[in-house]
Amino acid sequence: MAYNLNNRVALVTGGTKGIGKAIALTLARAGAKVAVNYSSDEEAARETVEQLKATNGFGIALKADVSNSEDVRKMYQTLLDETEALHILVNNAGIIRDTLLMLMKDEDWRKVIDVNLTGVYNCSKAALRPMIGEKWGRIINIISPSAIMGRQGQTNYAASKGGILSFTRSLAREVARLGITVNAVSPGVIETELTEVLNEKVRKEFLNMIPLGRFGTPEEVARTVLFLSSEEAGYITGTYISVDGGMT
Ligand code: NAP
Repeated sequence: MAYNLNNRVALVTGGTKGIGKAIALTLARAGAKVAVNYSSDEEAARETVEQLKATNGFGIALKADVSNSEDVRKMYQTLLDETEALHILVNNAGIIRDTLLMLMKDEDWRKVIDVNLTGVYNCSKAALRPMIGEKWGRIINIISPSAIMGRQGQTNYAASKGGILSFTRSLAREVARLGITVNAVSPGVIETELTEVLNEKVRKEFLNMIPLGRFGTPEEVARTVLFLSSEEAGYITGTYISVDGGMT
């Protein structure tokens, strides 16, 4: 089935690299006008906008630290000045600062919670008004197996992603009657910059945990986000879909 997102406007946070970029290009191929958000890498943002424009003629990049509510406010102002609507928000921006809890610096705890969890709060809150105006919306939050099964060295990251899952379930109940669905997607181990840093031992350890015997691709995650963004997923809300090769 080919999903049709013509006349839809989407914002993908952290949409200039890895999973976020694959999501942005996949939504654009389905016809959506896509804005990507990023925090620092201008070159990656420029490249992504070029690829978006080559896909369906539209593409903008919005620089904002999702953990900063003032940055997010300005980002939405620029977006809505340009597009006058928002239908789909993909909360994808995320970081890791892995270390055992005994050794964790307060800064590593706060940074991960601020970007991953408060970022979802900031961006979702700002998305509601335009979505309510459209009487239609899709909020899709990217979580992780750490939220579901936990992982040593990731207490900060797992807490942030677990928090997003609970946020997803609660917000879904709040906005269901307004025509807005809220779901999460949990990618397993996906080949991106975030996972490039894994050493051989950790890669083997992960592979042993994945029944399908391989890591996933950003496009495999993007196709699930496309489905949840579509009209066809209209009766799904407050839940998550794992794209993890059976890991969880
Ligand atoms: P990535 O390749 O490291 O890309 C991260 C993106 O987020 C970049 O566009 C980056 O922009 C942006 N970003 C980082 N901090 C930001 C901030 N404070 N404000 C706005 N944008 C920010 O990451 P990825 O591997 O694709 O992961 C994407 C999402 O999937 C994350 O939520 C991650 O937790 C989740 N996930 C990934 C995997 C995996 O195996 N890769 C598995 C499970 C879940 P700049 O470079 O400009 O900062």
